[in-house]
Amino acid sequence: MTQPIILPDRIRGLHDLAYNLWWSWHPAARMLFKTLDRTAWKESGHNPVRMLRDLPEDILKSAVLNQEFIHHYDVVLARFHKEMDSKGGWFSENITVPECMPVAYFSAEYGLHHSLPFYAGGLGFLAGDYLKECSDLGVPLVAVGFMYPQGYLRQTVRADGWQESVDEVLDRDAAPIVRVLDEKGGQLVVKVPFIDPPVYVSVWKVQVGHIPLYLMDTDIEINEPWNRAISAHLYSGDVEHRLRQEIVLGIGGSEVLNMLGIKCSMLHLNEGHPAFAIFEKIRERVETGMSYGDAVHQVRATTIFTTHTPVPAGHDVFPFHLMDKYFGNYCPLIGLNRDTFLQMGINPDNPAGFNMTAFALKMSAYNNGVSKKHGAVSRRMWRSLWPGLKEEEVPIDHITNGVHVPTWIEPKMELLFNKYLGPQWLEDHDSPAVWELVDDISDRELWQGHYWVKMKLITFIHERARHRWVQNRVNPVNVVVGGTLLDPMALTLGFARRFAAYKRADLIFHDIERLKKLLNNRWRPLQIIFAGKAHPTDEEGKRILQKIFNFARDSSLGGRIALVEDYDEQLAQYMTHGVDIWLNNPLPPLEASGTSGMKASLNGVPHLSILDGWWAEGYNGKNGWAFGSEETPGDRTGPDAAAIYDLLEKDIIPLFYRLDEDGVPCDWVKVMKESIKSVAPRFSARRMVKEYVRKFYENALKGP
Ligand SMILES: *Cc1c(COP(=O)(O)O)cnc(C)c1O
Repeated sequence: MTQPIILPDRIRGLHDLAYNLWWSWHPAARMLFKTLDRTAWKESGHNPVRMLRDLPEDILKSAVLNQEFIHHYDVVLARFHKEMDSKGGWFSENITVPECMPVAYFSAEYGLHHSLPFYAGGLGFLAGDYLKECSDLGVPLVAVGFMYPQGYLRQTVRADGWQESVDEVLDRDAAPIVRVLDEKGGQLVVKVPFIDPPVYVSVWKVQVGHIPLYLMDTDIEINEPWNRAISAHLYSGDVEHRLRQEIVLGIGGSEVLNMLGIKCSMLHLNEGHPAFAIFEKIRERVETGMSYGDAVHQVRATTIFTTHTPVPAGHDVFPFHLMDKYFGNYCPLIGLNRDTFLQMGINPDNPAGFNMTAFALKMSAYNNGVSKKHGAVSRRMWRSLWPGLKEEEVPIDHITNGVHVPTWIEPKMELLFNKYLGPQWLEDHDSPAVWELVDDISDRELWQGHYWVKMKLITFIHERARHRWVQNRVNPVNVVVGGTLLDPMALTLGFARRFAAYKRADLIFHDIERLKKLLNNRWRPLQIIFAGKAHPTDEEGKRILQKIFNFARDSSLGGRIALVEDYDEQLAQYMTHGVDIWLNNPLPPLEASGTSGMKASLNGVPHLSILDGWWAEGYNGKNGWAFGSEETPGDRTGPDAAAIYDLLEKDIIPLFYRLDEDGVPCDWVKVMKESIKSVAPRFSARRMVKEYVRKFYENALKGP
């Protein structure tokens, strides 16, 4: 059982604050933990649960006697309680519904904070930012997912540049999660129905502001050994393991909500992994005597499905023999024979199995892609599911992704915005008018602010490298490659994301001689910081990583390339804020949206990107740089790389190094301002969640 955190009465409220991720997007709350003990805060990895558990009693006692701390504590706690007790918010002020039951939101991953390693990449951060914004707007929602005790992977890079995974098991008692208890006071354990031999899950909860996120953990004694591993890692194992994971997520997740007595008005599926939840909704209705047809009609009318990628590996297809094995007894329960049942998941373009995305698309009245372009790509990709319709009539809409502004804004930038954008800016941050005031920020202040953030990034990277060096865990080569040679004065390009091959992390090395000229320019050097993980089974991704590693260790590139290990939420914060420019060059049309460029732009780090995903609608000619609009057939590596060099040589480098007499690159700062103004409101999670509510939830709430 959880080792209790013992706190003096006067500051007992720190316990609830630590167990609600609300603290993570409120700088004053973060600061409260930090001022309690700076060293312990840092050593805990900015995880207040771990910190409070480990803090010596005398530090807590002296905090109670510290007037300043107590004042700060009272202010933060008052705000926390006020917000948590509030029943109002944007949703209740704008949406009138007869009876408001929550939305059930299902996702295989959630990127909320680096102390909770339940994410692999963009899909997870989208889900995490979604929950935070729903909390801020008062959208009634409960979320369901997995507790992955071994998370995605912790990455280290060998001295020869090959990626390795480090096993690390989450210390459940030091994470901001709590056990959900049953009536008898033990941890709630739920049996996943209709699967034999049975699988059990224990239930945990993360509180995300107002929003509860229930997590299922199969690593409990009552399970057979192979079932204990179902929730061990994200996206691992063979196809049968994957199917069992998805049965637990969709069907087990529905059962967890039932056992908790939570009735939901709608189902929102974040990607196809949890789509079996749809079966459960149908089955429950059929069980009460409703006809299959009526049940499907009702369920469809209240289901929302968001598809996230055109990449085939992102869409699970299960062979029929496995579907028979696991659903043989299930289809009679919803009144279907085998063929009709399997037909629900057939993709006519490739009818070789049960396709989770095809199934979800057909069974949801509200479907969307995650950018304007991805909407169109998805309509083309899935048009054969609706053989009678023209491509533009295919019922897949789009809602462009956005990022949770309070989470992804750098505190120093936030202070600057507090000073210039008026008192209401954070409240109204999805309104473009608010951001017009960015023009009033003095060029010098904005530039110095950014420089300070850049130094913070470089210091962070140096500290990481030093830490590993001291622990003697690495070869000297890794210390060099890991960023110890970074120069704070040089124009710094950032590239960090999953190392999936289509993201083409190595594109900029295509013409190495041309790149070297830019890196080795003595007066106007360029440097590049890379980070990212390849999926453990993706040999191609690992080769790309190794290639970059080898360039980074090659002294003829001037020590201007760094590859920082173990990309996670914390490193993403530092990198998206602290580099000068953010690079993105996936192979079109495979980037559904991309969100890291939004995190950067919002902080005055302009985007240099191919015109795919969100940038196809985000680029306005002044807020960054774009290339690759033409749809070229065949190998486009050469032309795309050349476009990047051209932009760097002709536009970007001269602009960055053109300084006024105070040393401020005023024309560069113009681009920074334009990037903040144009991206912050439109690509905020606030704009996005409001759009989901207005376009989908409001209609779905009315029912069939
Ligand atoms: C935002 C984020 C991503 C998503 O990046 P893309 O631009 O969508 O590729 C991936 N990983 C981390 C850690 C992030 O913070």
